[in-house]
Formats: sequence, C-alpha cells, structure tokens
Amino acid sequence: MTANAPAIVILGPGSLATARRIQQRYPEALIHGLAGRVVDADRHYQEFGATLRELYQQDTPIIVLCAAGIVIRTLAPLLLEKGVEPPVLAVAEDGSAVVPLLGGLGGVNVMARDIAQTLQVAPAITTSGELRFGTCLLNPPSGYSLGDLEQGKRFVSDLLTGESVRIEGVAPWLDQARLPEDAQARLAIRVDSAAGAPGAHELRIYPRNVVLAVGAGALPNIEQVLQEAGLAVQSLACLLAADSDMARSELHDAAFKLNVPLRFAPASGDASQWLADAVDQPAAVRAVGDHAIAVAEQPVDPQDIGRLRGRLAVIGLGPGAAELMVPAVRAELDRATDVLGYETYVRMAGPFRADQVQHCTDNREEMQRARHAFELAVQGRLVVVVSSGDPGVFAMAAAVLEALHESTDAQWHNVDLQILPGVSASLATAAQAGAPLGHDFCVMSLSDNLKPWSIIEKRLDLAAEADLALAFYNPISRSRPWQLGRALEIVRQHRTAQTPVVLGRDIGRPGQTLRVTTLEQLTPDQVDMRTMVLIGSSTTCVFPRVGGGDWVYTPRWYGSKPL
Ligand code: SAH
Repeated sequence: MTANAPAIVILGPGSLATARRIQQRYPEALIHGLAGRVVDADRHYQEFGATLRELYQQDTPIIVLCAAGIVIRTLAPLLLEKGVEPPVLAVAEDGSAVVPLLGGLGGVNVMARDIAQTLQVAPAITTSGELRFGTCLLNPPSGYSLGDLEQGKRFVSDLLTGESVRIEGVAPWLDQARLPEDAQARLAIRVDSAAGAPGAHELRIYPRNVVLAVGAGALPNIEQVLQEAGLAVQSLACLLAADSDMARSELHDAAFKLNVPLRFAPASGDASQWLADAVDQPAAVRAVGDHAIAVAEQPVDPQDIGRLRGRLAVIGLGPGAAELMVPAVRAELDRATDVLGYETYVRMAGPFRADQVQHCTDNREEMQRARHAFELAVQGRLVVVVSSGDPGVFAMAAAVLEALHESTDAQWHNVDLQILPGVSASLATAAQAGAPLGHDFCVMSLSDNLKPWSIIEKRLDLAAEADLALAFYNPISRSRPWQLGRALEIVRQHRTAQTPVVLGRDIGRPGQTLRVTTLEQLTPDQVDMRTMVLIGSSTTCVFPRVGGGDWVYTPRWYGSKPL
C-alpha cells in the first residue's frame, strides 16, 4: 500500500469548496489546480493529463474532482503496464458522488468511505467481496501483510460461492466484518508469523511483529536467519542496527531488498540487549549469533523503534518558476520534515504542510544554518536546505560541506547527505536570450564579501583577455556600489564596444525582464542584485527575432567556421 499523501486534483474554481472539505479529512494532501484557472490551489499544473499520469506513476493516491470517464481515459494508457496502482477516485464537483476507480488493494474503498463520510453521501462501492463482507480481505490494515495475492483472490472467490471460514490467530479488524464464520470450516484465515507455505485452503496474513537487530560482524542472510528461527519474512517489521553502522551501505541495500525500514539505536554489548531496549512493548527476544530477533505480541510500528538515519539534502530551486525545478528536488521537498534557508527562498519552495517545520534565517548566516541542518539531521529528521538556482553555485552546498569538513562529530558524517542540482541563474538567463554561453565561458561572483577585490580584478583581467564569455553573479549591491563599474573598465580593455551584453532580472519569477545591450551602452545603474550579467566574447552574435527582441548566441566554433 502506498504511503504517499493523496493529491486532490481540480480543473476549475467551482470544485475548490469540495476539494477543501476533502482536504480536512486528509490535511497532508495538496490541492493541485489548473494554472491560470484556480488561483487559490496549493500547487499549479499546466497540463491535466500529464499531471495525472505523473502522480499515478509516483504511486500517489489521486482524488480527481471531475467526470469518472475523463479520469479513466486519461489513465488508460498506463493501466496495461505492470507497476504501481495507487488508489484513484473520481468525486463529483459538488461533492454529491464518490466513485472509487482503481487501487482496490491500495485501499481505494477505505478512502471512498472516508471521503463519502466527510461529504455525507454514500460511496459507490462495487467490489463484491467488499460489499458482502464489509472489508477487503486482501487489504489488511497497516501492521499486517498479505501472503500471496493470487492465492488470496481464489480464496475470496471461494468465500463468495458461499463457503464458511474460520479465523486462526488474532485479527481484531475482522471483528466488524460480516464473515460466514464456522469453527469447522474448510477455509481458514490464518494470522501469525510462522514460517512455511500456506495450506491449500488458507489465506495467510502476517502480523509485522518481528524486529531483527544486526550486530557486529558480517551481514547475515536475513531471510535465512528468520527461516531458521521459524519466522516468516513477511512478518519482519524492520531491521535495527547500531548507530555506528548508519553509513554501512550493505545494510541499506538489505533493507531495500526486503522492503522494510532500517532503523538505528545506540548499541553497546549484546544485540539482544539493545534490541530489547529499543522494542518498547512486550516481546520475546533471543540471540542468534551476533544478531538478535524480537517477536512482539502486537504488530510493531517501525516509527517507534530507534530512529531513522537522518538525511540532509541541499537543493536548488532553479530560478523560480515551478516547471524549472527538477523532479528530484520536488520529491525531496515533499518528504522533508524541516526546511531551512533564507526566508525568500523558503517561501518560494512552499507551500508546506502544517507538519513541515520552516526555519527561516537571514541571508548572511550560512555557516550557522549549515550547522543547524546537521543538528536536525542527526536527530533522524529529513532536512532540506534551500538555495535558489543551483546549490553548488555561490550557494549553500559549499557551506554545508565546509561545516561537515570542520566537524569531527561522527554523527554528522553518518548523515545521508545529498546535493540536488538546479537550473542556475546564468543558464536560465542564457536560455531566454538564446545561447550566449554556447562556447567557453567563465562564471564569477563580483561580491568581495568573501574574497579580496584584488583577486576579482585579476581573474576578470585574465578571463577577459582569454576571450571567454563572462557570467557575473552578485554584480552589485547597496554595500558594493562601485565594484561593477570597475569590473567593466577591466573588461573594456579587452573587448570591443559592440560586444553583446545580456541582462536578465528576476528570470523565471514574476515581472522578469530580459534586455540585450552592448558593452558600450552598459552602465551599473541598469543592474541590481537581482540581475544576471552575461557579457559576450569576440565571437558572440546578435540578430533580430521575429516578434521583437533579439537572439544572442556564441557559436560552437572558434577562429574560422568549420566546413
Ligand atoms: N545559487 C544561485 C546564485 C546565488 S548568487 C544560482 O545558481 O542561480 C545570487 C545572484 O544570482 C544574484 O545576485 C543574481 O546575480 C543571480 N540570480 C539569482 N537568481 C536570479 C534570477 N532569477 N534572475 C536573475 N539573476 C538571478
């Protein structure tokens, strides 16, 4: 079953009221509205079909407020592929009908009932087993897993022919089901964590009540260890390992392969000892060599066992527009528990859910912010540090790495640190102008806050002499008023007056402007701290584009044009 928060997708403002009511039932769900038509949505999309298909492929439960037929036709191409099948529901714009369409095993009927209850209507449930028994036997609640789906389907059809059934083990959620129970029945629903294949007339459901602690030494074959202990691998709730093993990749691979969470706890002495300390409920714990197994009386919620390996992602938002943000960054923001950054950028990365903590700081507190990010990550939180553009270009990635380099704290080094790229302002500006950086170019920050002005002059002089196209970040600010003028004097010693210059201001943001001028015409008062300055090389050309403005490009060749 998918763990993603649902997406509520609407086409027009008429659906917003119903969408908001559904959102009250799923506070973590975001409302996706068609750009230009639904101003008050939490997210805006450009294209309905592509958005719906993308959400589906990401295994996101989808609640669409439009005709069921539109949803079916839109998702049809994906249905023949084997893969994820999240719950998909069509809800009438006015909230008068709730139709579960797909994702029977992902809990679509449960969602349909919940939404219908919120909207005070009856859900359109059509699944026969569900109607007869009041529950989907093949979709046990969290904390339990189904043995075999195909066998389960045969079992349910046998039940539907009118056979009776007995329940072996503890299955509290079946108390409310309308099952034809009989202690002598041939068919049995069996709920326990014993190893071994199911009998011919059994529906096996496994409580996830087993935790395996991996001790010192070589990684064991986990399936084999469980098998030898007489336990079904389907009952494994999570793997637990020592804090000091956090960065051990084979552990992460093993957990990934078994599709269970990997948690960490402080470890000293016997694995059975620290495992017992970490499992906070009645459980039988036994040692297996260096390792240990706990079998709890109740299903175990992995979230209650030890803690997660913290993650720290330094992400680039791109210049601003949502469609220029890379999907990996979007996904990271969606799962973050904590978001740190300069307030303007944190706001740009939002909106956030109520459970996501925002830590906004001033732009100049980079090292402090980097250290704060590690402190949060070592607590097992999923931390995102936000930069505009690319995080590695005059932004937070280097500050975060510097903080880590300076630290001798093993916990900081154990954090799962990722740098996720973004479209940098120079590239976003260049793309709008054409291809001014189409050949060799040099990227510089004109800020002398963190480097001496003399080194900036030297680099400018050499780069200009080398006939590189130039991209200036941080070209000017109130506290650095004269530097740009001086920089241009140096460039002018090497470039002609007609050298093309591109000024991009607030590119990819509301009110963006793009201006093409020449080195001769360029004055510092045309530039501010939200501007990107691109200066051409001796080969950069300009020609008019139909509809106004110019194209600027630097050819791929140098010297003479190749044949
Ligand atoms: N990491 C960022 C750069 C940070 S330095 C990136 O990769 O884009 C800040 C400078 O970047 C600003 O002074 C400005 O020169 C430039 N800049 C950032 N965003 C911009 C935008 N949307 N339009 C134009 N210039 C931008």
